[in-house]
Amino acid sequence: MSSEFRTNIKPIPYGRQHITEDDIQAVIETLQSDYLTQGPKVVEFERAFAAYVGAEYAVAVSNGTAALHLAALALGVNEQSRVITTPITFAASANCVRYCGGTVAFADIDPETALLDVDKVKQMLESKPKGYYAGIIPVDFAGNPVNLEAFRRLADEHGLWVIEDAAHSPGGYFVDSKGEKQLCGNGNYANLAIFSFHPVKHIATGEGGMITTNDGKLYNELLKLRTHGITRDPNLMEENHGGWYMEMQELGYNYRIPDMLCALGISQLQRADAGLARRKEIANVYDNAFEGSPGIEVLGTNPDAFDAAGETGHAYHLYVIRVEDRKGLYDFLREHGIFAQVHYIPAHTMPYYRGLGYGKGDFPEAEHYYSQCLSLPMYPTLTQQEQEFVIEKVKEFVG
Ligand SMILES: *Cc1c(COP(=O)(O)O)cnc(C)c1O
Repeated sequence: MSSEFRTNIKPIPYGRQHITEDDIQAVIETLQSDYLTQGPKVVEFERAFAAYVGAEYAVAVSNGTAALHLAALALGVNEQSRVITTPITFAASANCVRYCGGTVAFADIDPETALLDVDKVKQMLESKPKGYYAGIIPVDFAGNPVNLEAFRRLADEHGLWVIEDAAHSPGGYFVDSKGEKQLCGNGNYANLAIFSFHPVKHIATGEGGMITTNDGKLYNELLKLRTHGITRDPNLMEENHGGWYMEMQELGYNYRIPDMLCALGISQLQRADAGLARRKEIANVYDNAFEGSPGIEVLGTNPDAFDAAGETGHAYHLYVIRVEDRKGLYDFLREHGIFAQVHYIPAHTMPYYRGLGYGKGDFPEAEHYYSQCLSLPMYPTLTQQEQEFVIEKVKEFVG
């Protein structure tokens, strides 16, 4: 369908990975080394990633969903737990609560930013006795960082934990009330944060994920849960029969990530800042192109994600616009080889969550946002020429 229109130009996706010769060499070297899994590259990746986001500890896992599952387990989510999250996110942000048997309590979004609305969460918490809710999972949707200080304050007042879903926001930051930049995933306000290394995310290892924290106890618990609930640390064991002895102390999983992927992650991490700078450049070009364009509304950046110099901490995983005829624009762009995408279909309207009692109409802001949103191509290797073509076609349709 698209090839008749743009035979000489390859399709433009909404996001894609960037693999260099150095990345490939790093993987090859690991393939030729002694360890394919549970080797030194895992720890090296964890240390480099923790340093990048400014957290004390990091635990690398098989994917971002596994990271969420382990985070929920480590914080004790069970059948009695009610956990608040946003319907405008990838399903895994909510599903991790269900894996542990808990109840997902969605709260509506702020229509300006599409981020979980702190005031709505506050109202929910205040309408129930203390102890009713167990935790909050805010999402740095599209790379737009949430104000975690505000969620932390609420969580402390009501005795809750916070998991930051930072899958979209490595390198992003918000500015706290003291005027200090707080990097996404740095663990200063959230108990745990999670990241994903799926190919559309900033750092791509194919499949992969990370949990970051400043809490040493949670860190040790996550290490154990990642590998079957087994410990080999004599200091943590109840018995010790000899050199072979290890102890399975609770029910864990195999959520390990192989060394080849960690080698790829380490190599990618070295270009993370350059990739982020390029994303901001692309966002800037879109911003200028759409400013004052009737019928095209750019999704707002969290006002707390600007530093004193006016620099933004938005990590631009996605570049989202809102238009009246979203389906028309989506189809028109596809005809021209531009594969824009919709993020997200509100989780509470999915058949699975409808089966748990949710339904259309429950979260009007999320549903209204969904009816208009479209994510335009946003990735570091998007060329200037490709971006100009995208802008031209968007304006041609809307204008
Ligand atoms: C990608 C993503 C995840 C899950 O990551 P996977 O690595 O694909 O399992 C979780 N939350 C959000 C917001 C995501 O975008």
